[in-house]
Amino acid sequence: MTSVITVSHLNKTYATGHSALKDVCLDIRRGEIFALLGPNGAGKTTLISIICGLVNATSGTVEVAGHDIVADYRAARATIGLVPQELTTDSFESVWATVSFSRGLFGRAANPAHIEQVLRSLSLWDKKDAKIMTLSGGMKRRVLIAKALSHEPQVLFLDEPSAGVDVELRRDMWRLVRELRDKGVTIILTTHYLEEAEEMADRVGVIAKGELILVEDKATLMRKLGKKQLTVELTAPLGAVPDRLSPYGLTVSADRACLTFSYATHGAGGQEDGLSIAGLLADLSAEGIAFKDLHTEQSSLEDIFVSLVRRAP
Ligand code: ATP
Repeated sequence: MTSVITVSHLNKTYATGHSALKDVCLDIRRGEIFALLGPNGAGKTTLISIICGLVNATSGTVEVAGHDIVADYRAARATIGLVPQELTTDSFESVWATVSFSRGLFGRAANPAHIEQVLRSLSLWDKKDAKIMTLSGGMKRRVLIAKALSHEPQVLFLDEPSAGVDVELRRDMWRLVRELRDKGVTIILTTHYLEEAEEMADRVGVIAKGELILVEDKATLMRKLGKKQLTVELTAPLGAVPDRLSPYGLTVSADRACLTFSYATHGAGGQEDGLSIAGLLADLSAEGIAFKDLHTEQSSLEDIFVSLVRRAP
C-alpha cells in the first residue's frame, strides 16, 4: 500500500523550551484509518497541527500526497480536511454559506451537489439555512465535519472526535468515516479511548512524551495491551490457592478475601491459552470456593502508556 503521509525525523520545541515532538517518523498508508493514541500532553495535537501547516516544525519534514508541507504548502493543505477539537464560536452565517465558503478557501470551484451530499450525510440538510449561532453543540460539531469535507480532501484528521459528542453523532460519524475510507480517503483520528481505536482503526500509533513509541496493526496492539481484571470477593478468606487454579496466575489480596484475574480484552475474556472468566468461575465452584461479588476493571489507556513509557528505552 502506498504512503499518503510521510513524516521524517520531526522535532518540535516550543518557545517555552518544551520539547513536544522528538524525532517522530511515521508513514500513513493511503486509505487506512489510523488512530493516534496518547495521554494528555503527549504531542498528538502538535503532530497534527504540523502536518496541517498550522504549527511550524523545529526540524524534520512532512509530505502529504507527495507535497512538502513547507515548500508546497497550498497544494499539501488542499489535500487535507481537519476537524479540530474546539467548537466554532457564534456565527451569523448559514450552514450552507459556511460550508460552501470553506470549499472556496481551498481554491476549489463551487460544487453545490457535493455540498448537498455532505450536508445530507451529516443530517444537516434540514439546517442548511439556519445560522450557525442558532445550532446546538452537536449540530455545530457536524458543521465542523462538513467544513472539513467541503473540498473533497484525500486525508481527513479528526482530533478527539468523541470528546463531548452524543451517542447519535458518534454513530453517524463512524458510519461516515467508514464510507469515506471505502472511497479511498485516509482517516487519522486522535483519541484517548482504547475502545474507539479498537472499533475503528486499522492501525494504531502510540505517542507518549513526544515520542512515537509504537505503530502496530490494531489486532496486534489489542492482543498486547488490552488487559482487563476480574476481582472476585470471597465469602471467606482463602487458605492455599488450589492447584486447579494455579494456571490463572491469580493475585490474592493481603486479607486473602479477594482474588484478581488479569486477562486480555481481545476475544471477550477468552485468552489464547484457553483461560476464561467462565472457566475460572467453574473451577472456583469445583473447589467449593464461594464468592459474594465480582467486578471487572479495564486498564485505562493512561495505565497502559505509563507502563509502555517505563519500558521504553
Ligand atoms: P491532549 O490530549 O491534552 O490534547 P496532546 O497529545 O494533543 O494533548 P499537545 O497539545 O500536542 O498534546 O501538547 C504537547 C505538549 O506541548 C504539552 O506539554 C503542551 O503543554 C505543550 N504545548 C502545546 N502547545 C504549546 C505552545 N503553543 N507553547 C508551549 N507549549 C505547548
